[in-house]
Amino acid sequence: MTATRSQALFERAAEVIPGGVNSPVRAFHSVGGTPRFMVRGEGSHLWDADGERYVDLVSSWGPMILGHAHPDVVRAVRDAAGHGLSFGTPTEGEIDLAEEIIGRVAPVEQVRLVNSGTEATMSAIRLARGFTGRRKIVKFAGCYHGHVDALLAQAGSGVATLGLPTSPGVTGAQAADTIVLPYNDLDAVRVAFEENPGEIACVITEAAAGNMGAIAPRDNAGLRALCHEHGALLVMDEVMTGFRVSRSGWFGLEGVAGDLYTFGKVMSGGLPAAAFGGRAEIMARLAPAGPVYQAGTLSGNPVAVAAGLATLRAATDDVYRALDANASRLGALFGAALTDAGVPHRVQFAGNLVSVFFTADEVVDYAGAQAAQTWRFPPFFHALLERGVYPPPSAFEAWFVNAALTEEDFALIADALPHAARAAAEAKNPEAAQ
Ligand code: PLP
Repeated sequence: MTATRSQALFERAAEVIPGGVNSPVRAFHSVGGTPRFMVRGEGSHLWDADGERYVDLVSSWGPMILGHAHPDVVRAVRDAAGHGLSFGTPTEGEIDLAEEIIGRVAPVEQVRLVNSGTEATMSAIRLARGFTGRRKIVKFAGCYHGHVDALLAQAGSGVATLGLPTSPGVTGAQAADTIVLPYNDLDAVRVAFEENPGEIACVITEAAAGNMGAIAPRDNAGLRALCHEHGALLVMDEVMTGFRVSRSGWFGLEGVAGDLYTFGKVMSGGLPAAAFGGRAEIMARLAPAGPVYQAGTLSGNPVAVAAGLATLRAATDDVYRALDANASRLGALFGAALTDAGVPHRVQFAGNLVSVFFTADEVVDYAGAQAAQTWRFPPFFHALLERGVYPPPSAFEAWFVNAALTEEDFALIADALPHAARAAAEAKNPEAAQ
């Protein structure tokens, strides 16, 4: 497949946009090659600037559960846009979206709409600190909660992809109150609470981890109990899992209530909107009801709200059944191809998030994800890309299926995977002795 036009666009972009992209993982740094500049999406497919078609297994990093350009969502966006793009006033659609979220996730009694997942987690942390009057927060290595200064320490997603321990520009002071612990290690959480009595405002966790690959939580109920024993809040980050892994997100699968929640991706149907919410008693501390300040010129934007509402309303039980079925089908195809090629691997699921780790061992935390043979990923990735499958361009990301994937798509994936598995088998560890 040629990428002539994408290459020319990438070179042009690099002149005016740092690294040629507006979010790092898009640049293909860890897999090499030319990022594809997309021009169109419909259903399960994307088309790039060179006219190549791809079966999309990234789904815009999560939001597009219905597939691209779903007619209901496009109609809702057109209608909303026709009435005006932004008013800077309250609108009825914001109430509808808030009610839709609250109706699905029982522990959420009130929500505030924001513009990105980053803003949601940043605001939730501020609110947790304001509510408890405490400074410190706990996060888990390999979890990504957006590019909030205090949450960038040992983060997953692009930070993991680029191999950064943290980011220059985040001062010691900004990170000093962040305690980073291994995911799925309750003993470490217990010790942190004992060593910092009365100081920890909240623990923020990915309800199920997706930013270091898919890793299911072992004991969110135990985590919640520890938080409450020590007077801290549990912030469930469901930006990735929310309204994707079930109609009520990870909460719908597990039933463990957090005190605060963060949402994004699916709830805005592909436009920029996100939310945080939780118990009314906590949310009431937010301005103007309370003193914790938080605001946004475009928050609750009517077009983004319309896209989110239309997406959630179109996400029927059949859609969730299709997402689950598509994820398990993809996982089974990974397993079969890699087993045939003799590649050590582990296919892991967290609900319908799926990922492949090139290791024989179960991966339960970031150290395990980093210990996998990630150097097998670039040839695996490119063998798929060349055959018209669009995988996440990083070994540390989950794969996001959508409900629009067809039989024909799965046939194409099934044909491509043995080539990818052989490419992974033939990959050489660049750090092995020559
Ligand atoms: N939290 C989680 C769990 C995420 O996966 C992400 C983004 O991938 C974020 C927060 C940040 O969201 P955004 O990219 O919209 O700022």
